[in-house]
Amino acid sequence: MALTGLAIYKQLPKTNCKDCGLPTCLAFAMKLAAKQVALEKCPHVTPEAKAALESASKPPIQLVTIGTGDNEIKIGNETQLYRHEEKFHRPAAVAIRIPDTLDEAAIAERAEAIGKLAFERVGTEIRANLVAVDNESGDAAKFAKAAGIAAEKSGRALALISAKAANLAKAAGAVSGTRPLLYISDPAEAEAAAKVAKDESCPLAVRAEGLDALAELTPKIVEAGVEEIVLDPGARGLKATVEALTQVRRLSLKAFRALGYPLIAFTTDADPMMQVTEASTYIAKYAGVVVTDAIEKWQVLAILTTRQDIYTDPQKPVAVEPKLYTVGEVGDGSPVLVTTNFSLSYYSVEGEVESSRVPAYIVSVDTEGTSVLTAWASDKFNAATISEALAKAGLAEKVKHKKLVIPGLVAVLSGGIEDESGWKVLIGPKEASGIPSYLKNQWKP
Ligand code: SF4
Repeated sequence: MALTGLAIYKQLPKTNCKDCGLPTCLAFAMKLAAKQVALEKCPHVTPEAKAALESASKPPIQLVTIGTGDNEIKIGNETQLYRHEEKFHRPAAVAIRIPDTLDEAAIAERAEAIGKLAFERVGTEIRANLVAVDNESGDAAKFAKAAGIAAEKSGRALALISAKAANLAKAAGAVSGTRPLLYISDPAEAEAAAKVAKDESCPLAVRAEGLDALAELTPKIVEAGVEEIVLDPGARGLKATVEALTQVRRLSLKAFRALGYPLIAFTTDADPMMQVTEASTYIAKYAGVVVTDAIEKWQVLAILTTRQDIYTDPQKPVAVEPKLYTVGEVGDGSPVLVTTNFSLSYYSVEGEVESSRVPAYIVSVDTEGTSVLTAWASDKFNAATISEALAKAGLAEKVKHKKLVIPGLVAVLSGGIEDESGWKVLIGPKEASGIPSYLKNQWKP
């Protein structure tokens, strides 16, 4: 739990010497609580106070790094239960499972498919992060071989899942230097797996049946020299898993150190739709890693979209730069469409214009990242702002028709825009999905 400014102040020398660059110790304490200065800026903190402050200001959930280079994923370090209080910072890693019981060609094929699971949404690439190689066979050699193939063919970081520490050692050795997440499913093997994780410098996920058993296990893993731990409270199925994950999150935020680690959850339903539901729910509440068999594009896109939405800042609309955009080889007869600079609005319009194959200009009006109706209701998308954006874009010199297509939802603005800008206003479709048909069948320069 984060310390308050007053709690920090009690630990400071209270001399107001200004050596930290701030006028008083209280000002320094407030800045430290807001994470705007480092404790080191005060050279007079006693070792005892430093130890107390460092330990108390340690994030309630351990930061864990999986993978290396472009495949590096950091999970944990979250500080809130509810994202409206503060955004969730480190998106859950989505891991797609490959059992090592498949033959080598099938493992390679599945790994290659996972490596291609990347999509562009609202201007950002979203992708599955991990290949979870599962030692279903129980055979160490098969497991190691599968790990090597999965790493090579997917180009992604790995999670290695086994009930045996010795098998984890062999597979981790086969992909040494890639920092896979090791997952030991048998609690009796956890301490031996900790030795493997320490030797290979890998994070370790441990499973125990219930929170008490988990809280007893984690100090032993730390004692064995592994700090980066991921927890599996052992629950399976939607209801039990959400309950367990929520309980751990609550306890960790209350600074219950033994459970202060990111969580891993597994989808277990065989139904493809339920796999998506399970994975999406665990991302929302509160998994740091979700392991799933869902591999179809529609499934993974839905899961990754949920993740992207959960990890945006609800206090800050996702916006694109308000300016003139072009789609395709535009000319002086190309249509001009207007929308807001809310990312989802803009990219919906852009995507539909692209799919229409009619080159077009899109004017994105600065509405502080709000959508068409919200911006209209708050008077940010009105005749004046639209006309101003049109003029700023210099469209009068780029097209010869002076016709502007506005969203059908704000048809009421047409007269005002015509008066203000001198452009003829055409009422476009109410939904972006209607744009291709509109441009192909109704638009005329
Ligand atoms: Fe207080 Fe330390 Fe800053 Fe001096 S340097 S004012 S003791 S916080």
